[in-house]
Amino acid sequence: VLLELNRDHFVMSVEVSATDIRAIVADFSGAQVAHTSVPTRGAKGYQLIEHVFEALARARSLLTSPSAVMGIGIATPGLVDDEAGIVRDADTIEWVDVPLRAIVEERFRLPTHVENNANAAVVGECRYGAARGARNVMYVNLGVGVGAGIVIDGSLYRGSSKMAGELGHLIVDPDGPQCHCGHYGCLEALVGTDALAARARERLVAAGGPPGAPVDLDTITRALAAGDAGAVGLCQNAGVWIGVALAGVIDLINPELIVLGGPTTRLGPPLFDAVRRALEGRALALPLAGVRIVAPELGGDSAALGAAVLGLDRAWMVEERS
Ligand SMILES: [Zn+2]
Repeated sequence: VLLELNRDHFVMSVEVSATDIRAIVADFSGAQVAHTSVPTRGAKGYQLIEHVFEALARARSLLTSPSAVMGIGIATPGLVDDEAGIVRDADTIEWVDVPLRAIVEERFRLPTHVENNANAAVVGECRYGAARGARNVMYVNLGVGVGAGIVIDGSLYRGSSKMAGELGHLIVDPDGPQCHCGHYGCLEALVGTDALAARARERLVAAGGPPGAPVDLDTITRALAAGDAGAVGLCQNAGVWIGVALAGVIDLINPELIVLGGPTTRLGPPLFDAVRRALEGRALALPLAGVRIVAPELGGDSAALGAAVLGLDRAWMVEERS
């Protein structure tokens, strides 16, 4: 019976980001049967919700039997109350107190689960990826925003008011730049992709480059590959700040695995090496010896697959109640 279900029933999920919305359709074993993505072209607020609708509608249209979709999972940046299905505060996409679950359930008439993207990613990696079998895990999303999904003793840790995992707002340099949260020296203000690009741009201008030159993560990756000393320095500094934050986490929760994911990891081995070096002498030797730092096995799909798992759980829950 379970095999029948696996083959014939599906869950749709989306990962919302500032640049695009990835949608997948997975069967009950977690195998992806379809995927699509919708560029957001800078859309924010309620406009972005229209793109979520579009991504889900497109994903459903890829199935020969759309009625076999049992539930929806959504992974989004920001502070999310999963129980209420409300995005409390996602300032990068201008969602404040958005009742996303109710909005999506009304449109698609399917049980929907809404989760923070790093939480969804750690669920995805624990179920299908690099963290299978691990009990104490942290997934770190390094992108425009920096956040973490934390699994302790095999369960997702959300905190008393669902706000746990805000790794990006750990202060790693009290004299550092101001963060959009208002504080100074937050990890996100130092290693978020916007912060990295801004620093790379400053260096380029200081070296006599044109002030208006577009600089993004890909520019830095290319410079790194070409052995550019400025890019290497940028990467090493980022590694130190990430290392300072992770050293605190390693001492505090003693994880066995830290999965480093998100767009910034495209910087590759130079970043990972810098993080590992930065941890030496910052984290206590014994907990540090017990932790492995790895890349996600699900690539860019960790959060979407995790959201699918959570969407499926909600579909079962709704089914059981009815
Ligand atoms: Zn902050």
